[in-house]
Amino acid sequence: MTDTLVHTRTGLALLDVTLTYPDGESRLTALDHVTLEVAPGEFTAVAGPSGSGKSSLLAVAATLLRPDSGQVVIDGQDAGALGERARTALRRDRLGIVFQQSNLLASLTAVEQLLVLEDVRGGRVREARDRAGDLLSSVGLTGSKQHRRPHQLSGGERQRVNIARALFGRPSVLLVDEPTSALDHERGAQIVDLLAEVTRTHRTATVMVTHDRDLLGRVDRVLDMHDGRLTPAG
Ligand code: ADP
Ligand code: MG
Repeated sequence: MTDTLVHTRTGLALLDVTLTYPDGESRLTALDHVTLEVAPGEFTAVAGPSGSGKSSLLAVAATLLRPDSGQVVIDGQDAGALGERARTALRRDRLGIVFQQSNLLASLTAVEQLLVLEDVRGGRVREARDRAGDLLSSVGLTGSKQHRRPHQLSGGERQRVNIARALFGRPSVLLVDEPTSALDHERGAQIVDLLAEVTRTHRTATVMVTHDRDLLGRVDRVLDMHDGRLTPAG
């Protein structure tokens, strides 16, 4: 059946993906024949309760976990057909990932969190700094805040740094895991709005997973996840 599906040439496609984990003597099915296509500039939300498979979905889309079966296609490239090095390059060049846990480095300022991603040398330092500063400003982190370390920023501001950092490598696919879970409702809504804006301006194929259905106002499409199965929101 998968060979009859036409996947988008750019953006993200998961085609009939199944993922299991070892579970004692048997296997636990975390993703059960999941198919999902997200085009550039499209903001898709996947909503489901804890344990339904949302983080697993993102890990497979991020090529961090190999599915048992099915395909992961990023900008037309079948990730499963690539070797480890090519997959790492694909991840670096095409994917932006915002994890559930903010994994900012405690000792670095906001702008340095972005610069550390690049091996910046010579004349490119200035250019990269300017770009990092512009990106941080575009997500609402301006002026002296760009030179603060994580503990000097609020939860919402740290999440903005995470988003700017994910965008620094000019990804075509943006994967976001529960970006609002540590935020109050208003700040959570602001982050979802920001992701909608970023999806439009950077033309990313964006997938945000969340258990919070109250924050889905500005997404293009909502899918429900239950026991590893994905269905259109009802
Ligand atoms: P969600 O992000 O929606 O909470 P997860 O994708 O983290 O869901 O988990 C889906 C299911 O897979 C859960 O039952 C969870 O316990 C299980 N699971 C997740 N990661 C692992 C793992 N590394 N090993 C075994 N089981 C796992
Ligand atoms: Mg999760």
